[in-house]
Amino acid sequence: YSVKTEGKGNFRFFQSRYFEAIRARLETEMELRNALDQHQFIVHYQPRVDLAEGKASSMEALVRWERPGKGLTGPDRFIPLLEETGLIVRLGEQVLDSVCRQLADWSREGGALVPVSVNVSPRQFSQSDILALFHSAIARYGIDPSLLEIEVTESSMMQEGIGESAVFSQLRELGIKLCIDDFGTGYSSLSQLQKLRFDVLKIDRAFVLRIEHPEGDTLIASMIAMAHALGMRVVAEGIENRKQMQLLKTLGCDEGQGFFFSRPVPPGARQAVASREFQPAIAPKS
Ligand code: C2E
Ligand code: MG
Ligand code: MG
Ligand code: MG
Repeated sequence: YSVKTEGKGNFRFFQSRYFEAIRARLETEMELRNALDQHQFIVHYQPRVDLAEGKASSMEALVRWERPGKGLTGPDRFIPLLEETGLIVRLGEQVLDSVCRQLADWSREGGALVPVSVNVSPRQFSQSDILALFHSAIARYGIDPSLLEIEVTESSMMQEGIGESAVFSQLRELGIKLCIDDFGTGYSSLSQLQKLRFDVLKIDRAFVLRIEHPEGDTLIASMIAMAHALGMRVVAEGIENRKQMQLLKTLGCDEGQGFFFSRPVPPGARQAVASREFQPAIAPKS
């Protein structure tokens, strides 16, 4: 027994772990390619609630991977690898197609219909023609473009110069609304925000989590004031209880989203969600 052989053993151990990690990654990538070929991705919808009206004002499309025999897998488990491999462009096409087909079906069925917001990856801006993508999906299903909203995260806006792109004003000319997602976690400047002229600002869940702590509402209050000054509607995400909802309403937040109102639901629940009366922020005195 010597230090040298132990070193060798360790090296073999790390080497095999390294190859194991590469093998697992390649396997997952193959599974994801297969999942795209087989159309195994489905979309759930989470309502965004107007805090004054207590009604859904729109719904966010959130993708899930339905693996045969394995149930649903959430996006945090597969989006990063799809982005690394560029496969996110194909996922984005499938999600948008699914949302537009759903909106066309819902319009035919009648009943309460609200716009749907779709999350878009920065890769879809840099590696594909996003304007053509939305244009063709809208034409394919003959839907009203004002039923669509695009969500781009604040941090991805700063990546790859996307924030500078002319594509946002072109998308707006199509009649699509624009939303800045996960706000407060990136580093956008006031002048960038003013130039972008987005319709909606979504405050990241991290701020809502801290709202009940001392001083926890000061940042939210200033984000709301800034967004309103720039003409944007403000949505708080990740509302899980009534206290958070009431504080946000008091601060002048326009809309909220979170498990307190509803988890993301399958498309079949659309009618129930879109026509539901959500609890008013201030309970009526009895
Ligand atoms: P996001 O766009 O910020 O979506 C909000 C996430 O918060 C969703 O997670 C939603 O289920 C979750 N959420 C909503 N309310 C609550 C709450 O009250 N408490 C907590 N703890 N969580 C809540 P989900 O569905 O796992 O999606 C995670 C992220 O994956 C999304 O964050 C978005 O960035 C990305 N994503 C989802 N669908 C797509 C898609 O079609 N394309 C792309 N590129 N990204 C997507
Ligand atoms: Mg989002
Ligand atoms: Mg978000
Ligand atoms: Mg997020």
